[in-house]
Amino acid sequence: MKEIKPISSHFEMMELPYAELSDAISAETLSYHYGKHLRAYVDNLNKLLPGSGLEGLSLQEVVRKAEGAMFNNAGQVLNHTMYFEQFSPTPHAMSNTFATRLTEAFSSVEAFKKEFEQKGATLFGSGWVWLSADNDGKLVITQQKNAENPVTDGLTPLLTFDVWEHAYYLDHQNRRTDYLAALWQYVDWQVVEGRF
Ligand code: MN
Repeated sequence: MKEIKPISSHFEMMELPYAELSDAISAETLSYHYGKHLRAYVDNLNKLLPGSGLEGLSLQEVVRKAEGAMFNNAGQVLNHTMYFEQFSPTPHAMSNTFATRLTEAFSSVEAFKKEFEQKGATLFGSGWVWLSADNDGKLVITQQKNAENPVTDGLTPLLTFDVWEHAYYLDHQNRRTDYLAALWQYVDWQVVEGRF
């Protein structure tokens, strides 16, 4: 993924490329999740940046170096930007090359999706499930708590599902597994694969 650069020492809110994702994420959820939660993370990060010594760095570098409230807000800006950008109501299909890579790592694309959903469903509390590439290009699934992002562990993050309750409760209530299963049809694989 391209490094996300600040504009004169502050970060801009990403633009949401859709109004809703039908049966997976409603416009009402987005009004809170994008309009309130992400807005707050961006505003908090921009308040914390001046004098922190991290001004001018890319968002990924801030996440790698920050601690405490700065880490939490920067991590959540990066996580949500990647999450919202990777979906589309008219997504590009997965390439054969990427399907082969997933098959090498997880034995089949379906087995990958099953393991990804299972790791999302079993993450206790708030956090994110991620598909990343390691330095050798090997694909791995990780569970990350709260605001964590795999860049902190030297991985290249490719795909993420948000499993904080605010991501699904209005639309799916406690049925986190329904929410996870409904997201696949909207994953734009051109965006995901472009992060390699
Ligand atoms: Mn969220």
